[in-house]
Amino acid sequence: MFRKSIIMLLIIFLGLFSVACSNNESEEESGEEQITEEEPTEQETNTTDESEPETDEETSPDEDSEMEGETEQTSGDEEIKEAMYELNEIWNLVPIEEGTNEKVVLLTIDDAPDGHALEMAQTLDQLDAPAIFFVNGHFLESEESKDVLRQIHEMGFAIGNHTYNHQRLSEVDEETQKQEILELSELIEETIGEKPKFFRAPNGVNTDYASALVEEEGMLLMNWTYGYDWEADYRSKDAIADIMVNTELLTDGANLLMHDREWTAAALEDIVKGLREKGYEMADPMTLKLPE
Ligand SMILES: [Zn+2]
Repeated sequence: MFRKSIIMLLIIFLGLFSVACSNNESEEESGEEQITEEEPTEQETNTTDESEPETDEETSPDEDSEMEGETEQTSGDEEIKEAMYELNEIWNLVPIEEGTNEKVVLLTIDDAPDGHALEMAQTLDQLDAPAIFFVNGHFLESEESKDVLRQIHEMGFAIGNHTYNHQRLSEVDEETQKQEILELSELIEETIGEKPKFFRAPNGVNTDYASALVEEEGMLLMNWTYGYDWEADYRSKDAIADIMVNTELLTDGANLLMHDREWTAAALEDIVKGLREKGYEMADPMTLKLPE
């Protein structure tokens, strides 16, 4: 009798478990479809084309020179830690081992440093929230902007390669793709003393050639799970702060795309606090598994 009920319980448990699994799968699948549709290849281009006014208000030269002294001394403390997460097919972070916190999100800031990146890094630093800043070479041509990159790096943030000129990789030949990626990696290395460990293609458009090159260079390629700050409806502090936290796309391991933009910079503190209120921890990019 006792044995029978154990077996019954087991059967019920297995039944429930398989239902849960299939639910998960279908969620993931529908999630993936959403992402593919949402992948704002056009929209992000729109944002870029409409070119936000390039204000440099946030990067006051005073702050720059204050930080300069520290630059050389602390250089290179962006250490890779033990790999805890890998990326799945929808770019979410998935724990490598059981027992690792699943309830994490990855913060990423693209198109940096273009006027607001330093302020964003300072906000995140105060909140003790790690992130990756994906930078473009065309934003790194002045000494002032290189100094901003050094400061962001010195605060401990990961620096990612977002190509030199933000060109759509599928629209340029292989030689150009190579230049777009390698010349920026060199520029980053010259500036902060180390090569970038992460890569994100402009508009999320990857080519086989570029993907292979990125891996050869030891960089982890990623797109993102969701982001909204290029859409007309979300170009204000309150709207972007709300949608980044209150979206059905916020799931365990979500890879959050934001940009170096005025409204996103203004909303960043609310976004981090909102995510934490929902129980999410900001994942340290240095715990992501890199290509061998
Ligand atoms: Zn971009």
